Amino acid sequence: MAALQIELVPCLRDNYAYLVHDGDAGLTAIVDPSEPEPVRQALAKRGWRLTHILNTHHHFDHTGGNIPLKEASGAKVVGPEKDRERIPGIDEGVIEGQVWMFGTRRVPVLEIPAHTRAHIAFVFDDAVFTGDTLFAMGCGRLFEGTPAMMWSSLSKLMALPDATRVYCGHEYTQNNGKFALSIEPGNAVLKARMKDVDAARAANKPTIPSTIGLEKATNPFLRPNSSEIRKTLGMQNASDVEVFGEMRKRKDNF
Ligand code: ZN
Ligand code: FE
Repeated sequence: MAALQIELVPCLRDNYAYLVHDGDAGLTAIVDPSEPEPVRQALAKRGWRLTHILNTHHHFDHTGGNIPLKEASGAKVVGPEKDRERIPGIDEGVIEGQVWMFGTRRVPVLEIPAHTRAHIAFVFDDAVFTGDTLFAMGCGRLFEGTPAMMWSSLSKLMALPDATRVYCGHEYTQNNGKFALSIEPGNAVLKARMKDVDAARAANKPTIPSTIGLEKATNPFLRPNSSEIRKTLGMQNASDVEVFGEMRKRKDNF
């Protein structure tokens, strides 16, 4: 099976939508279209015809392009079955355990709630689209879930192979990295990554994609067992969920 082409489409202020193109099958999906215009332009530039609109969750900055893009292209809207009523124009709801098909390609769906109660991820070969659950060096706010729910969602993503590329919903990396360094300043991999991130942002370049392996090494929200983080927080004997919850609370006020 031929490799997929994945193209970043910057939207709004700091959102990323992503085009996923299978040239052999003539299929093109857009993941989380915040708004229609940048997606239209990206499609026109490459001469691709939109066939699918995929949503990780219902927030407007991930679904705002659904209706206009669907009306213009006839693309099929696919999103979390458990949030059908909040996904504009939804045609097909998907749940974990059911493998969604992109042509003849199997695309597993993971249910990763907590940012919203029905948030999902799509796994295309060695790429995962994590929406607002897992960010580069960060994680989403807990709008509709608990720390335990988010820790379980992140743990599902951590179980993917280390080489899996991570495509998330926002360019929040630099600010996330500053928080990460504030609680784990001795992490050498994190310090090296921040140099790359600062250079990329200074050149106005995206910091995406990341990988699961790099996130496990540098993202504090995947590292509640780090002894340095536990020491910073004064939580040497707490559970992973408790440490995770404390980090999330501190990040909300960072
Ligand atoms: Zn969101
Ligand atoms: Fe968002």
